[in-house]
Amino acid sequence: MESFVGLDYYRVNELYSNEERLIRDTVRDFVDAEVLPIIETHHRQGTFPVGVIPRLGELGVLGANLQGYGCPGISEVAYGLIMQELERGDSGLRSFAAVQGALVMYPIYAFGTEAQKKEWLPRLAKGEKVGCFGLTEPDHGSDPESMVTKAIRRGDDYILNGSKLWITNGTIADVAVVWARTDEGIRGFLVEKGTPGFTAREIHGKFSLRASVTSELIFQDCRVPKKNLLSGTEQGVKAALMCLSQARYGIAWGAVGAAIACYDVALKYAKARVQFGRPIAGFQLVQQKLVYMLTEITKAQLLCLRLGQLKQAKQIHHTQISLAKMNNVEKAREIARQAREILGAAGIVDEYPVIRHMLNLETVYTYEGTHEIHTLILGRDITGLSAFA
Ligand SMILES: Cc1cc2nc3c(=O)[nH]c(=O)nc-3n(C[C@H](O)[C@H](O)[C@H](O)COP(=O)(O)OP(=O)(O)OC[C@H]3O[C@@H](n4cnc5c(N)ncnc54)[C@H](O)[C@@H]3O)c2cc1C
Repeated sequence: MESFVGLDYYRVNELYSNEERLIRDTVRDFVDAEVLPIIETHHRQGTFPVGVIPRLGELGVLGANLQGYGCPGISEVAYGLIMQELERGDSGLRSFAAVQGALVMYPIYAFGTEAQKKEWLPRLAKGEKVGCFGLTEPDHGSDPESMVTKAIRRGDDYILNGSKLWITNGTIADVAVVWARTDEGIRGFLVEKGTPGFTAREIHGKFSLRASVTSELIFQDCRVPKKNLLSGTEQGVKAALMCLSQARYGIAWGAVGAAIACYDVALKYAKARVQFGRPIAGFQLVQQKLVYMLTEITKAQLLCLRLGQLKQAKQIHHTQISLAKMNNVEKAREIARQAREILGAAGIVDEYPVIRHMLNLETVYTYEGTHEIHTLILGRDITGLSAFA
């Protein structure tokens, strides 16, 4: 039986392999059956549905594009489709998986020792352990290179002092990938939960990404054994940016999922809602919004597919990922707003997922490089002139 394809105006579905379609459909079914029924409650309560973590492990979606150490090594397009389906559920769910896979498993995979890979990757892949990624600091967001968290070498240990802010999964993490300034430059460390001097506290009062844990990490004379240094991070902040490129790739796909969720609801609502004696879908101004959504989602789907092919062929440049993250999130954010408008007053209640996606996308627009920073990255690439400072 042909699987449900969903919004596919340019028949992009035909360009995915059978395996890619199967993986997408498996995650789609999981999200429909196990995430959508509970997500609004978690969003209201400001909690992450931790019960899905082992399920994500069973489904094999955590670090799925890595090969070995318990990771299946699926194609980059299949990995992107997973991110799309997870974010069709909620940006918080996709954020969890993206942090675990791209920001924790990837740096261990790319920069870790054999012992670190064997110790952490299989358990992170199964969802038995959770990780977080600490780069941003209270006073250093878009400019991580000026970070002040320090790691001073003392014999066989490093002593960490400083703090990290806005860290996804922070309080539920068993291991934190923490970036700190050493005498040799910025390096990544694995800091385990329970290490004396390491505490995490949850940030409350968020109006965006509510179904996600966001935390502050604090290090006070925290002694980290030298064996926990990610020794391959001698490129300094560039190594951290390589991790971010992995995560931004997933975000570009994920934004399509959030946009599709909003489009689906808006289209159905517009056909059913009658005003002035006819469905509002029959009004030109409403159709203009729906057509905008259709057009931008279709363009984003094509952008993602090509990006995935380039990544698979190892020919991708980080600026191409910037373009897709910047564009797709901006369009998804606008699509969510227009969907909210089509729903009228009903658009502001969580009976429909639109307001949740709209609010979530404010975070997605800002994290992993703000929209403006990606604009500057691209501007520098095409002009050769940096407009950062
Ligand atoms: C819910 C959530 C989860 C997050 N999860 C993580 C995580 O897991 N790990 C982690 O390390 N970080 C995480 N972050 C942090 C995120 O990556 C930062 O918020 C982001 O990098 C921006 O930093 P900032 O908030 O300090 O803003 P700032 O850097 O202070 O920027 C403020 C504004 O100034 C603009 N701006 C800055 N510099 C320039 C410039 N040169 N030119 C033009 N405009 C400029 C920015 O675009 C932005 O609009 C998370 C954030 C949120 C909200």
